[in-house]
Amino acid sequence: MSQSELDYPFKLLEYFNGFRVSKVIFSACELGVFDLLLKSQESLSAQHVAQELGTSVDGMERLLDALVGIEILKVEQTRATAALYSSSDVANLYLAKGSDKSLHDMIIYQSQTIYPLWNNMVDAIREGRNQNEKTFGLPSEEIFQAIYRSEEEILKFMGLMNSSWVLDGHDIATAFDLSGFKKIVDLGGCTGALAREMAREYESSSVTVLDLPQVVEAAKKHYREDGDDVEFQAGDFFSGELPAADLYILARIIHDWSEEKSLALLKRIHDVCEPGGGVLLVEAMLFENRRGPVTAQIFSLNMLVQTEGRERPPSEYTDMLKKTGFQNIQFCRTGKSYDAILALR
Ligand code: SAM
Repeated sequence: MSQSELDYPFKLLEYFNGFRVSKVIFSACELGVFDLLLKSQESLSAQHVAQELGTSVDGMERLLDALVGIEILKVEQTRATAALYSSSDVANLYLAKGSDKSLHDMIIYQSQTIYPLWNNMVDAIREGRNQNEKTFGLPSEEIFQAIYRSEEEILKFMGLMNSSWVLDGHDIATAFDLSGFKKIVDLGGCTGALAREMAREYESSSVTVLDLPQVVEAAKKHYREDGDDVEFQAGDFFSGELPAADLYILARIIHDWSEEKSLALLKRIHDVCEPGGGVLLVEAMLFENRRGPVTAQIFSLNMLVQTEGRERPPSEYTDMLKKTGFQNIQFCRTGKSYDAILALR
C-alpha cells in the first residue's frame, strides 16, 4: 500500500464499508425504491417514497441520501422545497425490476442467501468446507439440496443464474466461432439464458438444456419465451444418459464440484462426444499466478462457503481436460466476469 495509505487508511476504510454499501443497494431493491422511482417518472420526496413503500420517513430519508452519496440516485433541493429524489439511468437499467438488463434477481439472491452464508466465512476458512449446515441446517455434502431447499429458493437461484447472462451472455457466445457445432447441449443450463444466446448467435444449430427435473419444470413455467427455440430435457449429468451432441456446454458447473466429480463429469462427456466434437467451459478464470482478477478470487471464496468447488487458473483446466482425453484447448478471457475455454475431443 502507498505512503498516503499509511498516513490515513482511506482504502482500508472504504473496503470495511463495502458490505454496508452493498446493503444500501440491496435494501433499496428489496423495498422497491428503484421500481417506484422508475414508475413515478417524477422526483419524489422521502416522505412520499416512505408512504408508498410503507416505511419510516426517517429511515427512508437516510437510505435515499446514502444512495445519492454513492451516485445511484439524484437529488434536487431548493430552500423552499423538501429534497426530491429521482433515479439515475444506471438504476433504471440495472436495479429496477422491469428492464431487459435488470439485475434485480441477482441482488435479491446476494442479499438473502449469499450474505448469510458469508457471515460464516471464518468457519468456512477454518474448516475448508461450505457452511450450508451452519447457515441453513442442511447437509454440506448435498450442495444442490441446500441450494434448492424450497420452491422459493429454486426460483431465487434461477433468477441469479439468469441475470448473469444478461451481462455476459453475448461475450461468451461469441468468444469462439462455434458455428461448426450443429447440436449443442448445455448441461446444467438452468433457465436457458445462455442457451438462448447461443441459439440467437448460431441460428443453424439446435440447442438443448439438460438440468434436474425440478429446474426444467420451473424453467418451462417461468422462463420460456414466445418462439423459444431452446429445448429442455430433464436429467442428471452425473448418472443419467447424456443426450448426443457435438458441443457440450458446462457453464459455471466445474466450479461447483470437487476435482474428482469434475473429472468424472468431463470423462462422461468425452465418452459420448464424437471425434471433432467439443466441450465449452465457462468460468471466472483466475490468472495463472492467482494474483487476480479480484472478481475470480472473491468468487472462489464464494464457492468455498456455498459449494465443494473453486475457481481455477488456465493450467488447472488444461490438466483436467487433458486427463479426460480432450485436446486443442483454447482460452478466451472476455475481460468481464466470465471467460470461455474450448476443448475438442
Ligand atoms: N449453467 C447455468 C448458468 O451458468 O447460468 C447454471 C449454473 S448453476 C451454478 C449449476 C446448474 O447445474 C444448476 O442449474 C443446477 O440445477 C444444475 N445441476 C446440478 N446438479 C446437476 C445434475 N446432477 N444434473 C444436471 N444438472 C445439475
